[in-house]
Amino acid sequence: MAYDFEAVCNLVVCPGCRTSLQPCETGLLCLNEDCRRLYEIRDGIPVLLTDSATQLSEEEWAIKAGSRNGSSPAGNKPVDAPSPETDDPG
Ligand SMILES: [Zn+2]
Repeated sequence: MAYDFEAVCNLVVCPGCRTSLQPCETGLLCLNEDCRRLYEIRDGIPVLLTDSATQLSEEEWAIKAGSRNGSSPAGNKPVDAPSPETDDPG
């Protein structure tokens, strides 16, 4: 029997920091960037134990946590700063 984690993820929180969890391909991910725990799903049941959780690196966490948000906020374009030109006579 398949379990709909999309539905239950609103009900469960990270036991370590009480932040909501996001389902990803390998388990349930804590959305607290200071916590970054990944909870494994064994036999269709999420193992919500901090001892069993894996703490991801900041980079790994950012990739997984941001992977579901396809749209990024607009207006974050790099500004073309004028480069200082020195005309050295000589
Ligand atoms: Zn957490």
